[in-house]
Amino acid sequence: MINEKMFALGDEPSAIRVLFAYGLKRKAEIGADRVFDYSIGNPSVPAPPQVAEVAKRLLDSDPVALHGYTPSAGAPDVREAVASHISRRYDVSASASNVYLTHGAAAALAISIAAITVPDDEVIVISPYFPEYKTWIDQFQCTIVEVPAAQPSFQPDIEALAQAIGPKTSAVIINSPNNPVGAVYTKKSLDDLAALLTKKEEELGRQIYLISDEPYRLISYGAEIPWVPCIYPRTIVCNSFSKSLSLPGERIGYIYVADQMDNDAETSLAIAGAGRALGYICASVLFQRILKECIDLPSDVESYRENRKLLTEGLGALGYEYVEPDGAFYLWVKALEPDAKAFSERAKQFELLLVPSDSFGVTGWVRLSYCIAKDTIVNSMPAFKALMESYK
Ligand code: PLP
Repeated sequence: MINEKMFALGDEPSAIRVLFAYGLKRKAEIGADRVFDYSIGNPSVPAPPQVAEVAKRLLDSDPVALHGYTPSAGAPDVREAVASHISRRYDVSASASNVYLTHGAAAALAISIAAITVPDDEVIVISPYFPEYKTWIDQFQCTIVEVPAAQPSFQPDIEALAQAIGPKTSAVIINSPNNPVGAVYTKKSLDDLAALLTKKEEELGRQIYLISDEPYRLISYGAEIPWVPCIYPRTIVCNSFSKSLSLPGERIGYIYVADQMDNDAETSLAIAGAGRALGYICASVLFQRILKECIDLPSDVESYRENRKLLTEGLGALGYEYVEPDGAFYLWVKALEPDAKAFSERAKQFELLLVPSDSFGVTGWVRLSYCIAKDTIVNSMPAFKALMESYK
């Protein structure tokens, strides 16, 4: 007998994936240049050339040694490379034993949630939030508690979080730079959040983890991005190279359990156990080894900066309301009617693929991924104009 819950998940993929699939079909029908696909966060910047250079060298090495299993948490030298990258970059001590290599940030998040919750726990997310959080929280029989971000800054709303944290709270998930709004959490916001979590831990007599989901850490347009474990010790960092090095299909990332945490060794073992239970062991070995050599490479942010300018100036001139993004490569735009799904459907008539906000936990907005070709942005402006006019 099939599992009905799994059937339902498979039967109704995420709104982003549905729109992405529609876009592929539509492009085949009318030509790729006539569809303005703002659906998925697939980086438009190529991976740095060093990735291909290292890959070619590795592929010419002994295949038996290259393709073999590594230990479940990853090759010891690669875990060491990640730890020393963290140490160098943030001037902190970081142990390889607290690094677990994963199949992207998605696996890192699923493992982390599994490791630190028991059924019936609550996990807090700040809305709007990355839709898959709900899938993973549900999967481990926990309850998602959605706390709206403060307006208009989209920073964490500390008072609202204080109300939401209770005796069943096991974790708060944050994501900065943020998908979908592009907000970057300030040092002050993180300090306030850390003070709140510390106070609540004392009051409630239980550990409250901060899961910091950071695949966009390197994609910032100038805003400082503080290192969260230095601000709140009970932090689990989930990161990947999907966005920063444009390797989303290669599925490589890591979990880092902060050394500053009083129970880091225990938490790392729970991470290892959850990775084992979920079958997320031994992340792609070729990309583990590529990572070892490419981990310090910077992200090519300039192209996204130009896209951000083109899109915000273009939409601003047409009268659209949006949130100015400080990081990541998404624009959060107010729908022209309260029902974002209806707005997204109407946009399709103009070949504009915009993700409605409902699955991000809020109504009335759409998300635009601007990690796309510049020409697509420029050529989409008449369609945005026509969409706006259709509401007048
Ligand atoms: N977290 C956020 C906020 C994301 O936007 C994404 C992907 O878009 C992920 C996690 C998953 O990243 P990965 O592709 O590395 O699994």
